[in-house]
Amino acid sequence: QSKSEVLASCNLSQEQLDSYWMPYTSNREFKKNPRMIVSAEGKYFTDAGGRKVFDGLSGLWTCGAGHSRPEIAEAVAKQLTSLDYAPSFQFGHPQAFELAHRITEFMPEGLNRVFFTNSGSESVETALKVARAYWRKKGQASKTRFIGRVKGYHGTNWGGISVGGIAPNKTPFGPGLETSHIEHTMLPENKFTKGMPDEGAHLISGLEDMIALYDATNIAAVIVEPMSGSGGVLPPPVGYLKRLREVCTKHNILLIFDEVITGFGRMGSNTGAEEFGVVPDMLTIAKQVTNGAVPMGAMISRQDIYDTFMEHGGAEYLLELAHGYTYSGHPVACAAGLASLDILEKEQLIPRVKSLSPYFEESLHSLKGTQYISDIRNYGFAGGITIEPAPGEPLLRPYQIAMKCWEKGFYVRYGGDTIQLGLPFTIEKEEIDNVINAIGESINELS
Ligand code: PLP
Repeated sequence: QSKSEVLASCNLSQEQLDSYWMPYTSNREFKKNPRMIVSAEGKYFTDAGGRKVFDGLSGLWTCGAGHSRPEIAEAVAKQLTSLDYAPSFQFGHPQAFELAHRITEFMPEGLNRVFFTNSGSESVETALKVARAYWRKKGQASKTRFIGRVKGYHGTNWGGISVGGIAPNKTPFGPGLETSHIEHTMLPENKFTKGMPDEGAHLISGLEDMIALYDATNIAAVIVEPMSGSGGVLPPPVGYLKRLREVCTKHNILLIFDEVITGFGRMGSNTGAEEFGVVPDMLTIAKQVTNGAVPMGAMISRQDIYDTFMEHGGAEYLLELAHGYTYSGHPVACAAGLASLDILEKEQLIPRVKSLSPYFEESLHSLKGTQYISDIRNYGFAGGITIEPAPGEPLLRPYQIAMKCWEKGFYVRYGGDTIQLGLPFTIEKEEIDNVINAIGESINELS
């Protein structure tokens, strides 16, 4: 379809197209060649021309249970006509408590206090703010520095971009919080590793060096994604997270896992923490909690962190934590969350991810040897393919590949020098092969 055909079939004018400043989008390119999605069902989008497009990233790692699920739609509709909104400050509504408790059932033992937000970025800001405020409550106000990791992605707010480790998300915006970054784990010797790489646990010595440099009395928390997603799908090296946990515990530094991608099934377990056998002090979630249907996120903490705020809260009528959002625990998001978590459980989608991930692994790695592919990584239903840079234009090829895939009827993500896959939890083997073949063909078509 030409641009004018797309606009005509969507009943949009050029002025309307121009009005929307699109997020994380090359606006000039998109507006010349708009890729409009008009509906979605199950694992497929429908574009403006009526074409079915396979959703190879589950939306943006959001919709593992498939799109437009009637169970979620019904729960949301019912909620909208019974309680559309309730003030989140000083008053409550039952679904928020029900969902908070339900979420704790998916969390590792010990993480049982849930603070609601509306996005992954807000969940990260919440965790960082709670970390600093916690140390103040404990009389250790000098613990303010945060440690992130190179290639980490923690959303787009000030705290998130400060601890984040992807340069283009940081450098345009100037100074943020006081942070340091440990090395990423993408070592050359681990290229084309299936699942967790063997090498990399030694990199935690970099954290120890950093602690020696700044002193633990000045460090509030370390934040990492158990499996780095947007940085290119980097599963943790064997033993890495355990060592990270040990060092944080030894030096009295809080450990935050950002599980906005890995929470609720993507790794084949309820959380990355469970899958990799390491429990952080705080854990952030979003995306899959409502199956992407309504914005929602949360920060889940250890009970004693919550208790510290309660114990140091002053008179009972006073706030223990001056933080929260108008839409924290929004009734409609809670309804969507409860319905989504029901689907995950009833349809046993998380064990499904686990049982099908070896098939995905084999299929994905069959691309090894294709021109321009310099590395392939995977874990659960997440896959990353590194593409060699074109001379002078390091980001060009991934973009070209993703566009060719789109033309062939497959949506995959391109970010930095990688192609990323986040398969729907309901995918069949044949569909896995189809999306992998489409990527292979698209790469082979490059000059
Ligand atoms: N943290 C991680 C690990 C993410 O992958 C993302 C989004 O992709 C975020 C935070 C930010 O979430 P949101 O875009 O909902 O603010």
